[in-house]
Amino acid sequence: MGAALLGCCFMTPQAGLAADCPGNPNALGTSRTIVVDPREHPRIGTMQYPETLPLADHEVVLTFDDGPLPKYSNQVLAILASQCVKATFFTIGSQARFNPEGVRKLIAAGHTVGTHSQNHPLTMNKMPLEKVRQEVDDGIASTLAALNGDKSKLAPFFRIPGLMRAEIPEAYLASQGIQVWSADFPADDWRHISPQRVYDLAIQRIEAKHKGILLLHDIQPRTVAALPRILNTLKERGYRIVHVVPATADRPATPTEPQQWFMRPPTETVAITRWPQIPNFVFTATRTLPAPVLADMDWRDAEILDHAQRARVGASVRTQWPQPQLSQPAPVSTLPTPAADVFRVPEALDLTLLAARTAADRRLARRAATAPVAGAPRAQAISTGQTRHPMQAAHQIPAAAPGQLHGAPLRVAPLAASNASLHVAKRTPRAEASAASKRMPD
Ligand SMILES: [Zn+2]
Repeated sequence: MGAALLGCCFMTPQAGLAADCPGNPNALGTSRTIVVDPREHPRIGTMQYPETLPLADHEVVLTFDDGPLPKYSNQVLAILASQCVKATFFTIGSQARFNPEGVRKLIAAGHTVGTHSQNHPLTMNKMPLEKVRQEVDDGIASTLAALNGDKSKLAPFFRIPGLMRAEIPEAYLASQGIQVWSADFPADDWRHISPQRVYDLAIQRIEAKHKGILLLHDIQPRTVAALPRILNTLKERGYRIVHVVPATADRPATPTEPQQWFMRPPTETVAITRWPQIPNFVFTATRTLPAPVLADMDWRDAEILDHAQRARVGASVRTQWPQPQLSQPAPVSTLPTPAADVFRVPEALDLTLLAARTAADRRLARRAATAPVAGAPRAQAISTGQTRHPMQAAHQIPAAAPGQLHGAPLRVAPLAASNASLHVAKRTPRAEASAASKRMPD
């Protein structure tokens, strides 16, 4: 009896919650709830930002966009209920107007509800402030209308449609105390792929990072079909579901350390350097070095470039939040090698990717300008006659240029003295083909 009581009291939280899940003793359950303050962390999700949610290893946050659409949203709700897991839903205002009961069902089931604009425009990155404001505010108003205007039921969380991030929407959302949610991994469930593929991508990508925010859509039949297996596999592999709610006056944020908001926090034993380390690849004499994979093009570098671009165009609409530390590397040699699929990113991220490439270009050029001996042989290949248009350069991935892999000459052309940039003359057909075929998440 004593042993039984002891067993009861030392059960893991997950087991305890699963036991509380009616009709499903093996439920995945919700292991814990974290409270976040959008004003302290205005942008999260490593697909686009340096920070993400302060999750522990094997913790996953489920998110669903574009609802409510009764036919599928109700099935998603039933699946989540059967496993007693809580998620975050990003509703579209127009959907909420059509299906206000759908919004109320999300709240009644205990999920967190944020918003996803009024009309789901995939052009928020190009919109003037007034249009951005209208989309954001209308989306919130429409969702609130379904909740009888009860703001306490709506989280100040927002996901930009198509992940089309830009400075204006980000700055506006921050000014409103609204947290921008990107994600840590999508499952491509907006594409015309099979439920099996959605399942495979979700699991592969979660396993590659071990924790993070999963982006799904509750308006897709393939998502409904894949979700039960996704949850079962997460349970089998020891993953735990975390529910996220916003801080309020009565509910302070969960205490965290700054480094917890990074996917790969530095440790005391790891030297701090900046990624990517491509220059070593370019200016070494050997041709046998492996090409850095896209994983090396950390999203944080895209963010760095953004800062540079803002400075260049003078559009210094910076938010008031302190900028996160950008030096968050981990030893490359100890990182797992994720599947190639992980880096097949949606069109929406093209700009970020291009930005990252261009940032790498500039670092290469700087290294070229100062490299003493190692760069000397390469200098012969440098010719102003091979100068390429910046946009052409932006579509090339120096690290992945097939010519380099197979020993073809690397040609380097400075753009201009004030803005020297390195360009790989050989184009990357695969990169172009994939750019042409990419589609946006919605
Ligand atoms: Zn969407």
